Amino acid sequence: MAEIMEPVAVAGQEARRAPMLVDGQWVEAAGGQWIEVENPANRSVIAQVPRGGAEDVDRAVKAAARAFESWKAAPPRERGRLLVRIADAFEARVEPIARLIAAETGNALRTQSRPEAKGSADLFRYFGGLASELKGETVPLGEHVLSYTRREPIGVVGAIIPWNSPVVLGAMKIAMSAAAGNAVVLKAAEDAPLAVLEMARICQEHLPPGVMNVVTGYGEEAGAALARHPLVRKLSFTGSTEVGKLVMHAAADRIVPVSLELGGKSPAIVFPDANDDAVVEGVVNGMRFTRQGQSCTAGSRLFLHRSIFDAFLARLAGKLRVLKLGDPLDEATDMGTLINRRQFERVCSYIDDGLAQQGARLVTGGLPPKSGPLAQGYFVEPTVFAEVRNDWRIAREEIFGPVLVAIPWEDVADAIRMANDSHYGLAAYVWTHDIAKGLSTAHAIESGWVQVNQGLGQSPGHSYGGFKQSGIGREFSLEGMLESFTQRKSVTVNLKY
Ligand code: NAD
Repeated sequence: MAEIMEPVAVAGQEARRAPMLVDGQWVEAAGGQWIEVENPANRSVIAQVPRGGAEDVDRAVKAAARAFESWKAAPPRERGRLLVRIADAFEARVEPIARLIAAETGNALRTQSRPEAKGSADLFRYFGGLASELKGETVPLGEHVLSYTRREPIGVVGAIIPWNSPVVLGAMKIAMSAAAGNAVVLKAAEDAPLAVLEMARICQEHLPPGVMNVVTGYGEEAGAALARHPLVRKLSFTGSTEVGKLVMHAAADRIVPVSLELGGKSPAIVFPDANDDAVVEGVVNGMRFTRQGQSCTAGSRLFLHRSIFDAFLARLAGKLRVLKLGDPLDEATDMGTLINRRQFERVCSYIDDGLAQQGARLVTGGLPPKSGPLAQGYFVEPTVFAEVRNDWRIAREEIFGPVLVAIPWEDVADAIRMANDSHYGLAAYVWTHDIAKGLSTAHAIESGWVQVNQGLGQSPGHSYGGFKQSGIGREFSLEGMLESFTQRKSVTVNLKY
């Protein structure tokens, strides 16, 4: 593979080609076509990756199926040791990988991309350490019977990831699959494949060929081919609910297990006793404003008690107005750009919708600037609408941009009812000094992950996943690895024979 591609933030840079990894080889697509990867901060093409299709996916899956035969037999401690070596190598490469993430996603280096790269190294270390935990159970069926279970790997995992946190999601799926003894074919997102390929390069230095393959290409081509491939025995998908349904159909056709980590429209409920700066800061973090709101766990529906509604929003607007938007590679930048034109236009259409909505009040932000340096890229300012109703489109649909809607409440039962009135159920946030109220609210909310008095991202060990149309299955954790990446076999022995 060509040497590491240094990210370039200047227009006119000659694009470089980054091949994909199939069976331990760096290859072009069988069809010979390439996809351009753009730096969304200035819309320059920074690289090209292969436009992989069904033939490439078939080669990668067959390679993985061959590699699986010996990988599954390797002692789990040995597999874990290799993953820990990957973590060490990854730590030494955090900076160039972080810069690549920033260049291709538009996520600011200091606030997003560097923490993402560091967190990805942690995931390899975490799952490397857990590889020996693939324990079974014994079942007491009587003195003369030995019945026990084994946790066996499933086979070839087809993993598909989005662009918003590409490396951490890729690392999680590779590390969980490999620690459990599976081989994996990862389909990178077409908008953010470069840092994932760089991560693959590190993995490839330590894993046997074919245990991990990375295919680049479009979702309808490479992604769909992977979801449908008959030798794929497990599908692990992170992305939109819409595509998740297609992946689940493909899984149903062949009865393969599937994990889906999908979209969200997560509530943040603020009680009247929590009108302070720490909570404002937590709401900003929970909404992932510094990732332009492009997070599945974004707390994008803010339920504020009526008695603090205006005062809290005034503090919030003050905090958002000082966030520095700009070049994602600049250390001073707090917030970068949206990923691409499509997403930019989509987010603008929601802002238009909010502006046109009678009764809604724009607290800060709005439509993006049409001139000046920010008009060079897909920048959108942090935007907050107040006096929103929970049944409006901007309160129901996942915008996946820096747009927060604030909805007033007076009775906590109403706040909970509105919070749960969504087809999503991924994350939630509750803010109060009254811990009993905080916990009873947390228990009443229909979401896979509720944070009380904090607005952080996932850590290794979280049994992470959604309720309702936010997904099925859990990942990120020991239970996630055991439940989603192994299958139980029971063995029963008659000791009297
Ligand atoms: P997306 O669903 O459009 O794409 C995700 C991946 O699926 C990409 O690699 C894409 O190429 C592929 N894909 C697209 N069509 C496909 C098809 N027909 N068959 C197979 N694969 C296909 O999502 P996106 O726009 O890349 O990401 C944003 C979405 O991801 C949001 O909805 C967000 O909430 C969700 N997300 C969820 C989590 C989570 O953990 N729950 C994490 C990050 C992002």
